[in-house]
Amino acid sequence: MTKAIRIHAHGGPEVMRWEDVPSPDPGPGEALVRHAAIGLNFIDVYFRTGFYKTNLPAILGMEASGTVAAVGPGVTAVAVGDRVAYATAPIGAYATERVINAERLVRLPDNIDFNTGAAMMLQGITAQYLLHRTYKVQPGETILVHAAAGGVGLILTQWARHLGVSVIGVVSTPEKAELARANGADHVVVGYADLVTEVRRFTGGAMVPVVYDSVGKDTFMTSLDCLAPLGMMVSYGNASGPVGPIDVGLLGAKGSLYLTRPGLATYTAKRADLERSAQDLFAVVGSGAVRIRVNQTFPLQEAAQAHEALEARRTTGSTILLP
Ligand code: NDP
Repeated sequence: MTKAIRIHAHGGPEVMRWEDVPSPDPGPGEALVRHAAIGLNFIDVYFRTGFYKTNLPAILGMEASGTVAAVGPGVTAVAVGDRVAYATAPIGAYATERVINAERLVRLPDNIDFNTGAAMMLQGITAQYLLHRTYKVQPGETILVHAAAGGVGLILTQWARHLGVSVIGVVSTPEKAELARANGADHVVVGYADLVTEVRRFTGGAMVPVVYDSVGKDTFMTSLDCLAPLGMMVSYGNASGPVGPIDVGLLGAKGSLYLTRPGLATYTAKRADLERSAQDLFAVVGSGAVRIRVNQTFPLQEAAQAHEALEARRTTGSTILLP
């Protein structure tokens, strides 16, 4: 039997149950991965609440590391015994083991341990595509990063700094501001009330060419006002709730702005893109340019407590669940 955190109904953290589920066998093109660690992500909350749709019952989770225990017919991407990690749909990672499309697995380099692997795949590949593909940052630019002390935020901030980019981070507490600063943010703003003024002051009135906004509802309009003419609004998350309908005319009025709502699934749909992003991530983590801050660890069985902490904004950096 496999142990897993399953939900039978959408709702608060209390709907998550620690259950026995049948042990899976890999079919054609699939691998069985015995999990060493599982990554906690805000998207897990969206699936739990029903904000993102899934059939029930469901095992939550989109990210883990572990060892390939068996492969089905036709698998060439990985072999039994390989150390691997993944960040992908469909959900099902909150389990001691799972079967997954082998093409979605990436081999972990020897210098990256399982905990780091599980913590960094989803948030790190997101940071990679946001900085290199959604908007290609240039050395000398100043960018705005929301939730800068969070999982994606700390990686994005360090990586931007490594690329010669100056980061204005936004956080909710002085403690988080300290952490963002220690991870490379040049300027940190606590709260959104004075954000536009602070960005204007820090950029000498130029404003920023790109905003990476993962907060959504509470920050969307303020973020638009932080952009320079022709700037790029990257709305990549909804931690405070969905942004809702937008008047396209606003983008014109605020300076011919660009708006995109990127998602990891699109940017890693092709195996070659997944591998390129992962190799980039392994390189910056391997060199020490980006350090993966695993600031919370919970037993998988206590995943509900991890969700409570994440939703209450009590976590910083990355969080893992140990089976
Ligand atoms: P974080 O560690 O960043 O946690 C969320 C943070 O958002 C909190 O710590 C908090 O930081 C901030 N926040 C602001 N308002 C709220 C609110 N009302 N409730 C809770 N948190 C709030 O999570 P992740 O790194 O896992 O994910 C960050 C965001 O990025 C999520 O929205 C996620 O869905 C999105 N994402 C999108 C991806 C994509 O491809 N599009 C891929 C990966 C993540 P503070 O207290 O400083 O305000």
